[in-house]
Amino acid sequence: MDRTGIQLDIRDDIEQSALIEALTEILGPKGLLTAPEDCARYASDQSGLCGVTPLAVLRPAGTDEVAALLALCNERRIGVVPQGGRTGLSGGACSPQGTVVLSTERMSGVTEIDPDAMTLTAWAGTPLETVQEAARAEGLDYAVDIGARGSATIGGTIATNAGGIRVLQHGMTRANVLGLEAVLADGSVISRLGKTVKDNAGFDLKQVFIGSEGTLGVVTRAVLELRRQVVRTALALFALPDHAAALACLSAARQRFGARLSAFEGMWPDYWDFVCHETSLVAAPLEGRHGFYLLIEIEVDGQHGETELEDFFAELFEGGIVEDGVLAKSLGEMRALWQVREAVGQVDDDFGPHINFDIGVSPSALGLFCEAADVRLTEVPEAIGVLKVGHVGDGNVHLLVAHDGSNTAEARIEAAIYDLVREWGGAVTAEHGIGRIKGRWIGHSRSPAEVAMMQAMKSQLDPNGILNPGALFVETKP
Ligand SMILES: Cc1cc2nc3c(=O)[nH]c(=O)nc-3n(C[C@H](O)[C@H](O)[C@H](O)COP(=O)(O)OP(=O)(O)OC[C@H]3O[C@@H](n4cnc5c(N)ncnc54)[C@H](O)[C@@H]3O)c2cc1C
Repeated sequence: MDRTGIQLDIRDDIEQSALIEALTEILGPKGLLTAPEDCARYASDQSGLCGVTPLAVLRPAGTDEVAALLALCNERRIGVVPQGGRTGLSGGACSPQGTVVLSTERMSGVTEIDPDAMTLTAWAGTPLETVQEAARAEGLDYAVDIGARGSATIGGTIATNAGGIRVLQHGMTRANVLGLEAVLADGSVISRLGKTVKDNAGFDLKQVFIGSEGTLGVVTRAVLELRRQVVRTALALFALPDHAAALACLSAARQRFGARLSAFEGMWPDYWDFVCHETSLVAAPLEGRHGFYLLIEIEVDGQHGETELEDFFAELFEGGIVEDGVLAKSLGEMRALWQVREAVGQVDDDFGPHINFDIGVSPSALGLFCEAADVRLTEVPEAIGVLKVGHVGDGNVHLLVAHDGSNTAEARIEAAIYDLVREWGGAVTAEHGIGRIKGRWIGHSRSPAEVAMMQAMKSQLDPNGILNPGALFVETKP
């Protein structure tokens, strides 16, 4: 896909001044941005795809305003791009030509915490970190956690069904949302903000919106399930001969720590060498070269978390499963170990032009899939470097493939990897979403019948195709 600008042919003929007048009536001057210099920063997210400056940025302050705005845009067939913190990595929040952005930035704040029901209710525009901090002040926590927590919003994490490092323990966003309010394209409000844990009265409609990337409705509020706050964790880095040993280690860790196993993150040697040796991004916490590296985190109930991990290491070392390891003995050492894994967010300048794949396969097949990907990429001369890092327990690898920056290289590398994903029955996106970057590859993960069902739902809920045109479904235009 051309990353220099999205050019969708959407209603260039709209009468902008009449539209602006009608929008101002709903929002008041504080709620509307129309100057191109103000609107420009809402054009793109963090995917690298360049959006076009939106016609206007709508900043509603509540559900009623969202409903009135969507009803108006639906009547006039104006494409609306819902937007949270613009941290998305698939271009879902990038605005195509001739559309308006609906930003949730004024719909922010936690409205209730119920410690007995262990729930938190928040507006969609609330940053994830604000929710986590509010929960922690009550001795509770919200389990969804991602690197972009400071800017990513609750609405954005719901719309993308965000994953992150705690999926192993608590599942993806859809497993952590109890209630939801969303506005449909015609302005009708679907509101289910009760805290009912058991509710089998028909379809679970909130799940329709979770992961729908702003194409079926605008999420306005949510009731989130909280967990007991974990006061202490222990963390170790293990070096192993290969991914098969990592799987053996995962199985042993599940047996030993059960639900206390809170993170199990993997780094392949290509990634390790790049961030620790080829660049000065992080200092190598271990000497020597190994076939695989794991970060293992457990929740600690008493005082002996480090000893538990030491004993675990000793047992695996004896069994020939691990070759070396280091245990974090302080908060500073924990941060240093996590930095090795999180350095994936800083490789852009050193690695040069690259595609950041977000592939999901069965956890038991992840190592073999990655070996197959390495082989497949040797057949693509434009692929000049590979880094692999990911969530081992979830079967999710972030595969970064460097190339010469040409469109041909991108096309050939994408085809090679996504063909392989199809052959392995995997997912072309495990957690970042389809957005505007991967729309044409959805058929590599989903059957024609599944795609047809998704399209039928889209046509039913948004018959004029105004919600996030061009996202998820490549061909939709209002
Ligand atoms: C450093 C970094 C680390 C990241 N780590 C992870 C990770 O570990 N796991 C992971 O899953 N993702 C990760 N991401 C991706 C990103 O943070 C998530 O996709 C996040 O959920 C997006 O939230 P947002 O508020 O920024 O949404 P935006 O980027 O603004 O929007 C994302 C999508 O959601 C839609 N949307 C936003 N708000 C609403 C709403 N209220 N109603 C309906 N649709 C809406 C948009 O139209 C768009 O399609 C990371 C991103 C960065 C930059």
